[in-house]
Amino acid sequence: MGAIDVERIRQDFPILHQEINGKPLVYLDNAATTQKPQVVIDAIVNYYVKNNANVHRGVHTLSQRATDDYESARESVRRFINAPEDCEVIYVRGATEGLNLVASSYGRKYFKSGDEVIITGMEHHSNIVPWQLLGKELGIRLRVVPFNDDGELLLDEFEGMLNDRTKLVSVVHQSNALGTINPVRTIVELAHAKGVPVMLDAAQSVPHMPIDVQELGADFLTFSGHKLYGPTGIGVLWGRADLLNAMPPYQSGGEMITGTPDIAGAIGLGAAIEYLEAIGMEKIAAYEQALMQYGAELLSSIEGVRIIGNAADKGGVLSFIMDAAHAHDIGTILDAEGIAVRTGHHCAQPVMARYGVAATARASLGLYNTTAEIDSLVKAIDRVIEVFG
Ligand code: PMP
Repeated sequence: MGAIDVERIRQDFPILHQEINGKPLVYLDNAATTQKPQVVIDAIVNYYVKNNANVHRGVHTLSQRATDDYESARESVRRFINAPEDCEVIYVRGATEGLNLVASSYGRKYFKSGDEVIITGMEHHSNIVPWQLLGKELGIRLRVVPFNDDGELLLDEFEGMLNDRTKLVSVVHQSNALGTINPVRTIVELAHAKGVPVMLDAAQSVPHMPIDVQELGADFLTFSGHKLYGPTGIGVLWGRADLLNAMPPYQSGGEMITGTPDIAGAIGLGAAIEYLEAIGMEKIAAYEQALMQYGAELLSSIEGVRIIGNAADKGGVLSFIMDAAHAHDIGTILDAEGIAVRTGHHCAQPVMARYGVAATARASLGLYNTTAEIDSLVKAIDRVIEVFG
């Protein structure tokens, strides 16, 4: 399936080669976090073993090495998302901090009472709560673009919401709960036609498809390293230089953002990006797309299983509910079979409310998953029906 050598890729991920509850681990919780290839682990170890020093403030050799590696990771991020300038790549802790940074810094500077921010009904809480809090503080109205039963945004409604009071559109590129890939280029065009900037929550898209911020035309974009086969605690906020330069500091102190930054995290993120570039994001996207289609067909053919989110344009997320069992019980049986899925509301409670469910079970794919693993998932779902059905 596809043009990538998945068996070879699997060899790069040491964690995958273990048994859970006596069964081979099948890791299908990639939307929560991804596993790390050995090159990422090595890059972090190598930094601490050979180069550890603070960055940007020493003339000594170790500090220069650490600074070079930290900055060369920033250049890797720039290249990966085709940002025009290195200085537009801001290291943050993750997508949550990227969104909070824009809300706090950009929002406080430019928003006033009566203004409006548009989000969608399929946002992660990270792209809801910062705007709600700011909204309360400043008197801003949050407007929410609805979506249809398949999980596709109603673009007419979006267009109708744009008006003179709209100060920002902040939307998820790929939904973590539904897998929907939103038509962000159209969203950007519609918003820009009204002079409104657009922020993209790309936490779930950057790891799974080629991303070119210039082609997307967005003004801000954020993602997390740990969902991109990199370490936890590091992420990226990209913003157009003119917008970033006009923004007041988010936090003050030595490094203006967070004091001593996550140097090892940035270096690990750079290694993850180089790893993915060597495979090719186009190939990864095509492979995961085929795997998702394979899984969607199998799952939807099981009686009593309903997939939540059937958008025509959809990434590797299979969110489902079963007549026989609650999501939590599905997760427990699957774990007994060695299969890791996430169960719950996926920090997207408005999505759950839209479908009238409390929780779903979610299998989310990564570049190392296989059709054999999807077959194991299907077998384990049959087991759920046996136990509870
Ligand atoms: N947005 C989306 C769409 C996500 O899926 C997540 C993580 N589940 C986040 C934001 C938040 O990412 P983090 O916890 O790494 O900050």
